[in-house]
Amino acid sequence: MTAPDPRSWLYPTPRGLYCAPGDFYVDPAVAVPRAVITHGHGDHARPGHRAALATPETLAIMRARFQDMPDTRQQGLKYGESLKMGEVEVSLAPAGHILGSAQAVLEWQGQRIVVSGDYKRRPDPTCPPFEPVPCDVFITEATFALPVFQHPSDIGEIAKLLRSVATFPERTHLVGVYALGKCQRVIKLLRAAGWDQRIWLHGSLLALCRLYQEHGVDLGDIAPVSDAILETFRGAIVLAPPSAIADRWSRRFADPIPAVCSGWMRVRARARQSNAELPLIVSDHADWPELVQTLKDVGAPRVWVTHGREEALVHQARSMGIEAEALHLAGREEEGA
Ligand SMILES: [Zn+2]
Ligand SMILES: [Zn+2]
Repeated sequence: MTAPDPRSWLYPTPRGLYCAPGDFYVDPAVAVPRAVITHGHGDHARPGHRAALATPETLAIMRARFQDMPDTRQQGLKYGESLKMGEVEVSLAPAGHILGSAQAVLEWQGQRIVVSGDYKRRPDPTCPPFEPVPCDVFITEATFALPVFQHPSDIGEIAKLLRSVATFPERTHLVGVYALGKCQRVIKLLRAAGWDQRIWLHGSLLALCRLYQEHGVDLGDIAPVSDAILETFRGAIVLAPPSAIADRWSRRFADPIPAVCSGWMRVRARARQSNAELPLIVSDHADWPELVQTLKDVGAPRVWVTHGREEALVHQARSMGIEAEALHLAGREEEGA
């Protein structure tokens, strides 16, 4: 049997990436009848689907963000389990990006396409590591797909933060983190580096931290800033959304040092825009060497590149003998880089 043209059964539409023989969308940009969701970030998980399939963790995140989703029929699929949707066999493999993040593995007529969503390759104590799945077509993100993006060690970046705390014990370190994924990973990194004091949180970060704790991710002593009584926050570490570290909210702290944890802190202009005195490069996305390594590990003869800087990675893949092209999808504005 000759293999089908992969574009004949999985292709971009204005609503998102559509799988025709399964009659579902993967990470659609709008509400659809049936969706497979790779992970809980806002550019992938949206409210209002009639039916959604994802890992149980991702469904829990979606319920937390979208008022419980009573009108969405929710189907949890654990890593490694599979089921049929229409004619298509669907399974989910770990993506190493955030809690619950998965690659959607789709098989039809002897052909396997992997939609990896967002991923990274370095260890993250909040989720299982990315699992390379051999496939015929690999769809990869390209958020940091330029050779200049080589993320430093996250342990080293957290050490910088703790050195600054030791150097300025009278001041508050106000650390900007995205609420989903980055926040919990930074807390785990701080714990692993020996910071066992209470970590204070902007109120908007609390719900997802509690959700991670309910899923077995031990974050130690955390509390919202609003719970503080007679607390000076001197020498304290306070986590907040990046937008809060320079706004009115930050004025309550003692001479704060604003920091931001993001892959984008590698870009000087972005670091300056963020008002971070202490830019820390901690990313939940693969950097350039990880992207290239992943193309080797999955060994797909075809790669579709989306979600960022497609051209450089397409060029790189072609130089490795891979048939590569950009896949232009609607509705992608990266959350939580
Ligand atoms: Zn993401
Ligand atoms: Zn994304």
